[in-house]
Amino acid sequence: MIRRSFLRAMGATAAAGGIAGMSQAAAGERDRPFVGYFEEPDGPLEDRLDRPWEMTEDEWNSILGRVRAGRRLKPSSWPGGARFAVALSFDTDHDIATLAGGAASHAPGRLAMGDRGRRVGVPRVLDVLARHDVPASFYIPAVGALVDREDVRRMVGEGHEIGLHGWIHYPNNRLDRATEREKLLRAREVLEKVSGTEVVGHRSANFDMSPYTIELVMEMGLEYDSSMMADDSCYELLIDGGKETGVIEVPVEWVRDDAVYLSFNRAGARPYTSPEDVYNIFRRELEEAAAEGDVFELLMHPHVIGYRSRVWIIDQIIRDAKAMGGAWFGTHAQVARWVRDNA
Ligand SMILES: [Zn+2]
Repeated sequence: MIRRSFLRAMGATAAAGGIAGMSQAAAGERDRPFVGYFEEPDGPLEDRLDRPWEMTEDEWNSILGRVRAGRRLKPSSWPGGARFAVALSFDTDHDIATLAGGAASHAPGRLAMGDRGRRVGVPRVLDVLARHDVPASFYIPAVGALVDREDVRRMVGEGHEIGLHGWIHYPNNRLDRATEREKLLRAREVLEKVSGTEVVGHRSANFDMSPYTIELVMEMGLEYDSSMMADDSCYELLIDGGKETGVIEVPVEWVRDDAVYLSFNRAGARPYTSPEDVYNIFRRELEEAAAEGDVFELLMHPHVIGYRSRVWIIDQIIRDAKAMGGAWFGTHAQVARWVRDNA
């Protein structure tokens, strides 16, 4: 069936907001047919996911609206009248992601690459933070917390936050809802027992979230998530076409993630970016966040940044932020609470 009413609606939308491929000038040529869907779709969406061009407006809106960024939360000032916020985080994965990678990943040499994260990376990272007296957030898979109980206690003892990072660093979008829920609940239980603190924040392993992750984060009563990148400022999370969750997003970005530039993968591209170049990217992100009076969120991994040739990046970024004047260093939980109550 030809969908003439639909085409008319598409024409109107294109003129108002712009459909991909339709320029302002092209809007004047509205009577010219353009690519859209012309036939009634045949069967449920699940059966034609390999034919995305058959997706209806209701269907794409439902997918886009499953989890969406709501109100931007950018306060006019930060605790103590500070001008901008610095939120440092460390995904303490070590060899746990490798452990979850199947039998081929269990070769001792591969596991040792992650093991250096706990032996060398964590002590170096904690020393830098202690020297500058700044707090950070450590996201730890539950299995990792069970392997490294003493490290978790040291982090808490030195004023850092412990946050959820899955059960065994396995992508949430490969679990069914019931399994994902059960693993999240068990992971929180383990982290709270080992750390002796209340866990209020969540970061999805590899940022791979299922359609249910945020709904589960809300159901668990967590205060914030830090796995998404729809904005540079914190924001509210909406689900199911605009329903408020009360969960704050403290956004991450691949561009502010050390692993993107510095991880070694013998199957993938190498050489990686030089530490100086990584520092320059982080520094520019910091400068602009400070100029905007916003939050500078940075994500690192002890097994990636904790090298003799790299750990200086954390030290220098902290020095830079302090030298700019008006920096407030907070954990992600503190940032989430501040923007929730003051933005
Ligand atoms: Zn991770």
